Amino acid sequence: MAKELVQFRNLETHFHTSAGIVKAVDDVSFSIREGETVGVVGESGCGKSVTAMSLMRLVEAPHGVIAGGEILFEGKDLLQFNKKEMSRIRGKEISIIFQEPMSSLNPVLTIGEQITEPLMLHLLLDRKEAKKKAIELISLVGIPRPEEIFYSYPHELSGGMRQRIMIAIALSCDPKLLIADEPTTALDVTIQAQILDLMRELKSKLGTSIMLITHDLGVVAEMADYVIVMYAGKIIEEAPVLELFKDPQHPYTKGLLKAKPVINQKQERLYSIPGQVPNPVELGDNCHFHDRCEFCMEICKVKQPPFRAHGDNMHKTACWLYEEEGKNHE
Ligand code: SF4
Repeated sequence: MAKELVQFRNLETHFHTSAGIVKAVDDVSFSIREGETVGVVGESGCGKSVTAMSLMRLVEAPHGVIAGGEILFEGKDLLQFNKKEMSRIRGKEISIIFQEPMSSLNPVLTIGEQITEPLMLHLLLDRKEAKKKAIELISLVGIPRPEEIFYSYPHELSGGMRQRIMIAIALSCDPKLLIADEPTTALDVTIQAQILDLMRELKSKLGTSIMLITHDLGVVAEMADYVIVMYAGKIIEEAPVLELFKDPQHPYTKGLLKAKPVINQKQERLYSIPGQVPNPVELGDNCHFHDRCEFCMEICKVKQPPFRAHGDNMHKTACWLYEEEGKNHE
């Protein structure tokens, strides 16, 4: 089995708001191995992007605080790194592609200037070498006429091309880990498929590990090796991708799968999980999904289920339905 590149250990990221403390990431532990794609899924506000921001050390103080845990990258705890050490890692060892390329690219700089900057900063290339490598990268992500695109501004490109440029910038310094935060959400379906193909191709060519953040289980099925399902700041299920789709255990995961449209299947209305995500400042020491769950028992309202394997060691769930203690309450 490949070596672990990133290990989140009991990560706690909190935000201090006027209404109280929001535990956006609550005791989260998982690993990403070398060359592996790990899909992190869940509804908006479940903590998936904050987990990635914590890894990049982009959680903004004083409101946002990493309150506990460790994030090991190649065995070293990133939370102990100072600003200078972190800026050496960011963009070089770990890079990120955001959801909306238009707001991530600088509108007043040419594409060439934006790709060459990290090459000169992290790889210490001179201007001429950086330009050569930038043109190679533009071509690598499948954009024709790379020399011409080098001098273009972001507004002159389509959404799909801008996202390809974001991928080129993210890959410019051969990162070991690429974080893709909803990389295809803002794109139409055809371009979405092209971007996913491109990421898959680049991953097999370059061997980069990917942390893929999405709410789209279709994207996870196509791309991920392993899946983490988050709800209200916690991991509630994790499994290898085929196992998760074959045998989902947690009622929330089952709901997400049921809510996915199926081609050629007539449905009067698309299923949606009833209720709302709970108010993050009012979470108790219970199953956070309890008031949306059709299987809710008394114990679910008062006690948090343990997160552990029930059968296959790689498939873990936090649900009282799979615990002896829970079965006694049925
Ligand atoms: Fe439902 Fe209880 Fe399982 Fe939570 S612990 S998902 S409420 S059955």
